[in-house]
Amino acid sequence: MTSIESKRVQYRKYLERAGVIDALSKALIKLYEEQNKPEDAIRFVRKFMCESCPDDAQYDVMKNDLEEAKVHITKLEQELERLRGQIKKSPEEYQELTIAGYKSLMDDEENVSSLLRKYLTPELLEEYMLVTTSAPVDAYLYDCAVTGFEHHETPVGLYAADAESYDVFNKLFDPIIKDYHGQLENDNDVLQKDADFGNVDEIENLDPNRKYIFSARIRLARNIEGFPFFPKLTEKQFIEVEDRVRAATETMDGELIGSYLKIGDIDAETQAEMVKRHILFQRGDEQLTTAGCYRFWPTGRGVYHNPAETFIIWVNREDHVRIMSMAPCGDFGDVYNRLVNGLQELEKSLTFVRHPRYGNLTACPTNVGTTLRASVHIRLPLLCKDPDRLLALADELQLHIRGHDGELANEDGVLEISNKRRLGYTEFELVKTLQDGVVALINAEEELEIAGQEG
Ligand code: ADP
Ligand code: MG
Repeated sequence: MTSIESKRVQYRKYLERAGVIDALSKALIKLYEEQNKPEDAIRFVRKFMCESCPDDAQYDVMKNDLEEAKVHITKLEQELERLRGQIKKSPEEYQELTIAGYKSLMDDEENVSSLLRKYLTPELLEEYMLVTTSAPVDAYLYDCAVTGFEHHETPVGLYAADAESYDVFNKLFDPIIKDYHGQLENDNDVLQKDADFGNVDEIENLDPNRKYIFSARIRLARNIEGFPFFPKLTEKQFIEVEDRVRAATETMDGELIGSYLKIGDIDAETQAEMVKRHILFQRGDEQLTTAGCYRFWPTGRGVYHNPAETFIIWVNREDHVRIMSMAPCGDFGDVYNRLVNGLQELEKSLTFVRHPRYGNLTACPTNVGTTLRASVHIRLPLLCKDPDRLLALADELQLHIRGHDGELANEDGVLEISNKRRLGYTEFELVKTLQDGVVALINAEEELEIAGQEG
């Protein structure tokens, strides 16, 4: 006997001994004897072989139990998250976590580019480790830096836990702000100019023929005076912030009239559709999770929007308030005008925090100053064929092109282009920068079109 044959014999003997051949034969005989042959023969055999298999009714009950258990687990996870959010750490625990976090950040030799790593020296760590902002918030350096300690690849790694964090930990926040906003050479005491929305009429429709621009959007971020920022908001304060913003929207007029929806009241499918239409936010970002942004979710989170979905306010998404105006075309004049009106309306009943040196304060130091991000979703297919030139042009025009999954444009060739700077310029200057830059890019695209036709 060859070795393969002997293996086969051994295997058959094993199957016989174990009763497998017998069981399979019986099942096949049973199927053979069946008058009405079942459609699903495998299911028939499986059922026959497995005496302890549940019947259909039992199976349904089990499926139901599983679904219920999943819902229960989600609730328990939320409760756990809520309780975690209430835990107060002792100064000793803060010290231990800070030292460990700092060590892991500095020991990582592969991810060395975060601004936290660049500016948090051992001396500053020593000086700030046990210092806190005022009671009852009592924010530690750790509350601000935990994201950078745990996500070494993050570009900044620092959030302000409250407005005071910017002053109490100033020797850390200040260079990070200056570095990020390109102000390292600026020696002025005041980095941000006074708010100036300028002459709204000078902002125009950038694409009247609707050839390039799909949509335009401008957003601002604001935080209400007297409340900590998201890392330190209590559950009660999340609700208070929501109530205040909601009340402030009640006096909205004209095209700003809309309604407020609590995220907890919107079903998952509708939420997903709203996210797709760019009018709703989701939880999920890992860095923000670490910083405590989603504690007590979805408590206190919601969205106000008008029926046209052109004026939107997000509540407790990173900052207390994100105000945005949109249009499904390139009409920036329309978008800007509505945004300024909406902000003025909110300011009638809400006081937002402003810093003498940095302007409007936000949780993330990258947003301080004007907090303004104006953007277009635009198609520039010919320019996109030469990404190096496009990126160089954008840089020159002080614009930022947001990539999708590492690509310049998304799969439909749509780019998201926005102003790169938020600090050191007036609101009007930044919108004007975007306007001029987008016009220049469209002109460059048109030149390529003409060259293509001639060539
Ligand atoms: P923010 O700009 O407030 O920091 P995100 O970058 O998360 O927030 O963007 C929020 C949403 O706005 C995303 O769904 C994004 O696709 C959308 N968005 C950005 N710019 C535009 C635009 N010009 N037109 C339509 N949607 C936009
Ligand atoms: Mg963002």
